[in-house]
Amino acid sequence: MAAGSDSTAPEASEQGRAPVAMEKLVSLCAARGFIFASSEIYGGINGFWDYGPLGVELKNNLKALWWQRMVRERSDVVGVDASIVAHPRTWEASGHVDNFSDPMVDCRICKKRFRADQLDDIGPCSAQKGKAECDFTEPRNFNLMLQTQIGASADASQTAYLRPETCQSLFTDFKRVRESARQKIPFGIAQIGKAFRNEITPRNFTFRSREFEQAEMEFFCHPSEREKWFEYWRAERLQFHLDIGLSPDRIQNRPHDDDELAHYAKAAVDVDFHFPFDWQEIEGVHDRGDWDLSRHTEYSGKDLSITDEQTKEKFTPMVIETSMGVDRTCLALLCDALDEETLEDGESRTVMRFHPRIAPVKVAVLPLSKKIGEAAREIDATLRKHWNVFYDEAGNIGRRYRRQDEIGTPFCVTYDFESEDDKKVTVRERDTMNQDRVPIEGLVDYLRDRLEGDS
Ligand code: ATP
Repeated sequence: MAAGSDSTAPEASEQGRAPVAMEKLVSLCAARGFIFASSEIYGGINGFWDYGPLGVELKNNLKALWWQRMVRERSDVVGVDASIVAHPRTWEASGHVDNFSDPMVDCRICKKRFRADQLDDIGPCSAQKGKAECDFTEPRNFNLMLQTQIGASADASQTAYLRPETCQSLFTDFKRVRESARQKIPFGIAQIGKAFRNEITPRNFTFRSREFEQAEMEFFCHPSEREKWFEYWRAERLQFHLDIGLSPDRIQNRPHDDDELAHYAKAAVDVDFHFPFDWQEIEGVHDRGDWDLSRHTEYSGKDLSITDEQTKEKFTPMVIETSMGVDRTCLALLCDALDEETLEDGESRTVMRFHPRIAPVKVAVLPLSKKIGEAAREIDATLRKHWNVFYDEAGNIGRRYRRQDEIGTPFCVTYDFESEDDKKVTVRERDTMNQDRVPIEGLVDYLRDRLEGDS
């Protein structure tokens, strides 16, 4: 007997995917253990999220691909892992203490707080049961940095900030890293880490959170090459998002208008993704000029300029920044992957169509019956040396396939009663639901080819 049948083939899946409803995604993420509210048993805490067993694999895959591409595969970028709390002067130099704020208003009736630039999106006043709109105070600036105190005793303590972006340490560490890693410009410093912003209105699931991760890279170059490198990194970062499987028609570059640019920036372009709620930024590529190094030189008194060995020219390097939101990109991957498909027999199935590079679980091992579980466990143990594998021997095989479809597992390996004799297993592919009979001996090579091949 071959592995369990799997309903009927998909009905013209090429017909194009409808955008997913956010509610459906949020509940699937919680039910399957991708992402759910932090401190859920206490009712959650607004703007903070936990990644479950599948979510952490998804996020780690994304971070590993970024690190591989941005650091390991290049000789001109090196990585660091800097502390979250920096010397408070850092945030004076960067301008965050004075300028990192959003205009906020309070409603005098319901007492809720809103971003003054987002009032168009809010509904009727919650205290008035839809009868009237809120009655707002005048806008006030609200600094988004989260503060903490350092030091054991109250009088000796010092106010510090949880970093609102990971990049500032890449500037403050510039000299040390350049010298210790023996780098010459043009070169970059990369980092992945947590950042914190006391967002006034966290919303759209993880899109705007108060704690999130960034994957940032600062590329230092000669002033005469800034345009060239900006264009290079713009194209390279767009390509990255295509390579992790985001649909080309849901991703675009959006150059900033002049009035959107930070005062020190010469150019900026966002990588925007078409979320169910809107086109929104998942990454920014910015030409920051010499603003950051010059400010840190001024505030620290340490010279961060460099001297060209040949021409003896002394200059402060220009900086091109690439700044990806890890959580926003994970959210884009989830939104893009989720699909509801109607099969020929009228049944529907939910499929997460992750690219195999990103899929949290690469292979599921499913013995047709618990009685032959022991042999299947051996296959499971072999595959685990290579990939993240899920073992499931409970219940009807069709339902087990559906569960794997829902979490985006590209391949299911079914060990059945014939496997004992012919030493073969059935490999079922997620998207087409096609099944192949594959010798157990060649299974690792077969899966490697299909998971890691260029397709
Ligand atoms: P936005 O305008 O949406 O607040 P931003 O322009 O302030 O974003 P940057 O400061 O350029 O964002 O940060 C770089 C990246 O960090 C963003 O592209 C985004 O992916 C991510 N990011 C920024 N703020 C948040 C947040 N509150 N929650 C999740 N990710 C964030």
